[in-house]
This record gives sequence, structure tokens and C-alpha cells, in this order.
Amino acid sequence: MSSNIEGGTGKAIRLTKGQAIKLTNTYGTQTVDMWALRAHDCSEYLSVEHTRRMHFNLFPTTGDLLYSNRRTPLLTFEEDTAPGKHDMLFACCDKWLYQHYGCAPGHPNCRDNFTAALFEIGTDAVHVPNPVNLWMNVPVTENAKLSLEPPKSRAGDYVVLRALEDCIVVFSACPMDITPVNGGNTPRAVAYELLPV
Ligand SMILES: [Zn+2]
Repeated sequence: MSSNIEGGTGKAIRLTKGQAIKLTNTYGTQTVDMWALRAHDCSEYLSVEHTRRMHFNLFPTTGDLLYSNRRTPLLTFEEDTAPGKHDMLFACCDKWLYQHYGCAPGHPNCRDNFTAALFEIGTDAVHVPNPVNLWMNVPVTENAKLSLEPPKSRAGDYVVLRALEDCIVVFSACPMDITPVNGGNTPRAVAYELLPV
């Protein structure tokens, strides 16, 4: 049975080694920031910097291992039905980004969602790592220029992530409503489901 993560909110979920989680982009337009932390020691976390180095790739693809800051494979990027890529270059949105855009204080943001989601399951992290931005479309063009485009994902596209260690995954259905990363739409719900081992 799947559960919803409402648009603009976050959720932390504990995975035991071998367990897989399916995350569905219900409406196809939603970018989801994703983190993973080692269950027994949150100072070890999925590191996009280390993962890029281990694969010599900017973006993750099906079958890739996602590595920690201590180069431990934490998750397998097991299935991916969407035609587009997933970003591993940009930091999550935070109150300072919305301040930069001139928003009033209190705009929901992925950084706060990360912290709140961990608090909800009784833990915390000293550091907010850079996330894997699922379905976030960041084309790299000439001279390594980056841009923010609407997701290429379609309603019902999903990813499956399998834990290679006991870990906590955190998802934030990004509250961004200024750039086109959520397809120009109001942030919308996504759904997750733990798969049978
Ligand atoms: Zn965000």
C-alpha cells in the first residue's frame, strides 16, 4: 500500500538492508529531493560528490550505486521509468534561496523539510548534505552552462531504490514555485511504497 507525501512537504523512512522503496511521481511534474543517511551514524550520508567521482557521471542512471561520504554504497538506483535525468549538481532549496528571490520569510523549503522529517522519526543530522534531486531537469549545455527546466517525467513514472545498508531515506516534494523545476505547477503530492523483500 502506498502513502502520499504532500506537495511541499517531507518524509523520512527507515530502510533495512535489502529493503526497497518505490517512489512514484503521481502527477509527473514534481521534483523530489532525496537524501540517505546511515541508520546508526548520520554523519555518514549519501554524497552526490563522491557518487559523481565513483561513476565519472554527473547524473545517476539505472543500476548505479549511490555512495556515501565514506565511499560505502548505501543504495542501488534499481529502476527508473522516466525519460529524463535526475540532478546531482544543485543544493536543496532553503530559506536563503527564497530570500534571494524576494519571497516573504517562512516560505517552505527542502532544507527545513529534511530537518523536520528527521525530527519526526526521532533523529537529526548535524549537516544537510546535497541531495539527489529526483526528476529535476538540469540540462548541461555548451561551456558547461546549467539551466532549470520542467521535468520530463510523466504521471506515474517511478524510481526504485534498494538499501545496501540499514539507512534512513528522506524525501522532500520540493516546494519550489518560482523556477520551473516543478513544471510551473504548484507543488504536488508524490507516493511511496515499501516493496516486499
Ligand atoms: Zn526544494
